Formats: sequence, structure tokens, C-alpha cells
Amino acid sequence: MTIPVADPRRVVDERRAELNAVIQRVLDSGQYVLGPEHDAFEVEFASYLGVEHCVAVASGTDALELALRSVGCTAGDQVVVAANAGFYASAAALAAGLRVTYADVDPSTLALSAASLEEALTPTTKAVVVTHLYGVMADLASIVHLLDEASVALVEDCAQAAGARRESRAAGAWGRAAAFSFYPTKNLAALGDGGAVATNDAEVAERVRELRQYGWRTKYSVASAGGRNSRLDELQAAILRSRLPHLDGQNTRRREIVARYREALPSAVGRFVCGEDEAYVAHLAVALVDDRDRVRTELHAAGVRTAVHYPVPDHRQPIWRGSYGDMRLPATEHACEHVVTLPCFPELTDTEIGRVCDVLARL
Ligand SMILES: *Cc1c(COP(=O)(O)O)cnc(C)c1O
Repeated sequence: MTIPVADPRRVVDERRAELNAVIQRVLDSGQYVLGPEHDAFEVEFASYLGVEHCVAVASGTDALELALRSVGCTAGDQVVVAANAGFYASAAALAAGLRVTYADVDPSTLALSAASLEEALTPTTKAVVVTHLYGVMADLASIVHLLDEASVALVEDCAQAAGARRESRAAGAWGRAAAFSFYPTKNLAALGDGGAVATNDAEVAERVRELRQYGWRTKYSVASAGGRNSRLDELQAAILRSRLPHLDGQNTRRREIVARYREALPSAVGRFVCGEDEAYVAHLAVALVDDRDRVRTELHAAGVRTAVHYPVPDHRQPIWRGSYGDMRLPATEHACEHVVTLPCFPELTDTEIGRVCDVLARL
């Protein structure tokens, strides 16, 4: 029996009765878009995060794009992002017509740091996207300070960090705006696409609300250019409401899995990329290993699936046709060659975790 990297089917099987009731409730309501489930989810998720506003949208990528535009980025503005985070922030910036540039990441956390950003900021930088990668919450206190001084907006990409907290303050409560994804394998997952923007700024929230629905300020009255349709439907909102109360418990389980892997992996082979306590929600169990091919081959032979998040750094993607040919991001490039992702989701059984640990210990 192979052990998958992720398996969104298992939690469906475990909670099928509850899910059926939730879906039935929406079917019977007669409201399928922007109805009561959506409104309640926005309030409940904002309260969970400890922010003033949550605006639900259709995906994490839309959340990033609308967040960037809502904090004041307009076509031609420059935005700084990390190049090791799957191109999502780059894609959102491109969709908003922004100029993308990259800063290197901190080699231990693999996230942007104040030190790495200091060199990348220019007088034309309008915003920075910090991705809390793999569920490791970046250390934002010094970044917030740096960006405040430079009048640059911080947008957090929390797609992999739902539920992470530092000094009791949630990932998503530090920036001008924060983007969440509810893709089916994320820590807080829908059964389809979904996303949200969190913010403490009423104007930012209002702009996202306009942009996600045709640019309307009120029905049929178009106030903002560049509006589109990006809404979270009632079924997904209802499913997310039913899952939100389980998020902290599931994150605890995820952390336990990576803690077991850490104990098993010999330090001569590599180390896991993780954070401390609640500042880590173990979205992915990612190790930095010297000989990735060998590690993947051995795990595969033992029936343990692996993945690579992410193999190609953004500045080397073919879309740029070499525009960043001279750019060197040593920590980013090293990570892309050495990261490997192991199975990590709350429904893994203790037996499966033990099997993965046995292979790790023998590496
Ligand atoms: C999943 C993900 C996204 C994109 O979310 P979608 O809902 O798939 O659009 C953005 N950023 C990061 C870091 C992600 O992991």
C-alpha cells in the first residue's frame, strides 16, 4: 500500500455524515452564491484570525491579485516576491499588470527576511508579498518595521499557513492584506476552489468587495475599473464553516507528524524546514537533503510517495525568456534543488507515519 503525499478523500470519508448534512442544508436554502453561508463564513474566519475584515473570493490566486490591487498597486508598479514559492505571487502580480522582482530567502526558514528584502527594495517598490512557505510562519516583526519605514505595503500569502500564530497574532493579521487559499489539500480546505483576503483596513476590504464582483459599489453601479467575478459559492462556504472548528486540532496533528519525521531523519542526510510551536502548521513536510534523487528513490521503493515544492524558481521560469538571466538567488536556487516533500496530512495513520520513519531512519 503506497502512502500518498496528500489525500483529501480521507477526511471526506471520516466526516461524510456531517458533510452530507451541510450540503443538504445548502441545497434546501435556494441560495447558491453570496448567501448566508458565505456571509457567516466571512465573519467566522475574520474572528478566528482576529482581523476586522475577511472578503471571500474564488481562489488563493485571485485573493493575492485582488489584495495587491486593493493595497494600491496599479499597472507598472513594482512588487517584490520570493522566487521559491511556486510562482503564485508572480502570477497574481502579472495578472495585475505589475513588474515583478525577486529577493532571496533566508536559508534556514526559506522565507523572505528583513535582511534579504533590504537589498531588493527600490524607490519604485509598492508592495512585498511574504509567503509563509510550507506552513512556517515568517518572522514578520522586523519586516513590518522595514516596510513601514519605506512606505511599502506588506501582503501576506497565507495559502499554506492557515492557523499559524506568532505572539498570539495570526498569520494574516500582520500585513495590509493577506491572501488565503482553500484548495482541497490546504490546511483549511474546501471541496473545490476558494480563497479569501483578510485585512484590518476597511478601505482595502471595500476595494476587494468591489473588484470581486464586476467593480460594483452597489448593485449595477460600477465604481472600480478592473472588476471581475471572483466569488466563493455557498457550498464551499458551508463546507469551510463546518471545517474551521477542526483546524487547530488538525494543525496539531500535522505538527506531530513532522516532529516524528524529524526524530527519524539522520542529521547527516538532511533536515526538515519547520518552525516553532504555533508559528508552524506543517502544511507540507519538507526536508532539505543533500542527495535528493537517492532519498526519493529509497522512499519510493518503500511505497512512500514524495513531491518537490517547487522544482523551478520563479526567476528561471520559461515565461521570462531569460529576463532574469543575470539574477542570482543562491539560497532560493539551492532550495529548489534540495527540497523534498513527504506525506503529511492529519488523517495519516500511526502505522503509515511509522513506515515513513523507518525508511527515513535507514537513509
Ligand atoms: C495554493 C497556493 C496558492 C494558490 O491558491 P489557489 O487557490 O490554488 O489559487 C498561492 N500561494 C501559495 C503559497 C499556495 O500554496
